[in-house]
Amino acid sequence: MKTAQRLRRQRRFAWRRLAGVGTVAAVGALFSWPAGLGLLALGLGWAWWCVEREFAEVLGEALTGAPHEDLSPRARLVLEPLRAQERVWRRRLEAARRDRERLIAAWDRLPVGVVWLAADGTIRRLNRRAEDLLQLQRRLHGGQPLALFLPEPRWLERIRASGEAGFTGEVPRRGETLHCRLQWVPLEEGEALLLVEDRTEAMRLERMRRDFVANVSHELRTPLTIVRGYVETALDAPTPLPPPLAGYLEQVHAQAVRMQRLVEDLLTLAQLEGTQPPPAKWVDVGELLETAAAQARGVAPEGLTVEVDFPPQPGAILGVRTELESALGNLALNAVRYTPAPGRVVIGARAAENGEGELFVRDTGIGIAPEHLPRLTERFYRVDRARSRDRGGTGLGLAIVNHVAQRHEARLLIDSAPGKGSEFRLRFPSGRWREGEAVK
Ligand code: ADP
Repeated sequence: MKTAQRLRRQRRFAWRRLAGVGTVAAVGALFSWPAGLGLLALGLGWAWWCVEREFAEVLGEALTGAPHEDLSPRARLVLEPLRAQERVWRRRLEAARRDRERLIAAWDRLPVGVVWLAADGTIRRLNRRAEDLLQLQRRLHGGQPLALFLPEPRWLERIRASGEAGFTGEVPRRGETLHCRLQWVPLEEGEALLLVEDRTEAMRLERMRRDFVANVSHELRTPLTIVRGYVETALDAPTPLPPPLAGYLEQVHAQAVRMQRLVEDLLTLAQLEGTQPPPAKWVDVGELLETAAAQARGVAPEGLTVEVDFPPQPGAILGVRTELESALGNLALNAVRYTPAPGRVVIGARAAENGEGELFVRDTGIGIAPEHLPRLTERFYRVDRARSRDRGGTGLGLAIVNHVAQRHEARLLIDSAPGKGSEFRLRFPSGRWREGEAVK
């Protein structure tokens, strides 16, 4: 049936061409060069008709979808490269489909919850873990604004502002409370991924470790005080002790003092890590500098000067006095510890750009090689263990300083060059720094 139609159509084409040729010949006759013009038109029309017929037939065969073997040699010639290309595209399409399925399966097996958010904050997709942690369902909540289903609608803003560090919040789930870390990963065109990580177990273990260290330190405190007390009594006895015994007792005393310092630092760290900071108050910067300088002068050897560099308007820091004193005191003691006499230690404060401000401790001491700088705030990390111990260091000072900085939204910045000296800075954000009179 289709073939008959095609033939009829081809015949119609042929008649039209012949009519065209006839017309051209008639026009030619009028101008007395009929034969040439007519033959030319006839030839052109015939050629055009042949091409059209070929094309129509090949296309007709192609559209029947007949297997390759059943095609005419002419159609095979034309269709072979097209069908080869089609096979390539089909294979690629199939591979892309399989990859997509695998990606979706992997996305659902991720141990971290992931929510893909559109630019307007609505949920585009979420994986199984995110469904489980945030108590959402794809069918119900897809296309809805995520902010509505978080424990607090304001969370989304806080997560976005928290950057790479992420925001940790309590998420209720089936009668229990999870501690989840939520992190914002910006994508193209305002879209974003929200990563949700369950940190409940990690935080429990971290708390256990902290409690253990705090308890051990606490338990060691009393026996150490007693040992130190008896040793001091024996050393201060009116009748002098025989020389070897006095030497042994002095060793015991020095070690007891060192252990006591260690225990105190461990307790300070445990307290900084495990508790919320007390309410912040404006703390006078001038007083902070004086306290730290007095502490440093108390242990500085002869030939080492300790100076205070007051800014024109010392002002105040919004924070916890004891913690700020401890941080600046640690930096000042380190400066004295690692600066041989003759030398100079300067403890000061200055305003920085964007309304920020900083406390600094500068020394002309031994300095620190650049490769050690990133690890200095790790507990018990020392550049030179023996030297630190000789100078009464515990290896915990900068860890304490770093914790205090974090609790005050401040940053610890270190500039140092071996043999030249160091500058340690605590940089406070504008909201915590005020120039001029301290607000009591
Ligand atoms: P420590 O009790 O050993 O001083 P810290 O945590 O306070 O422990 O410091 C870690 C290490 O950083 C020190 O052991 C020392 O090597 C180095 N350090 C700290 N402050 C200074 C400084 N002002 N100059 C040179 N090195 C320093």
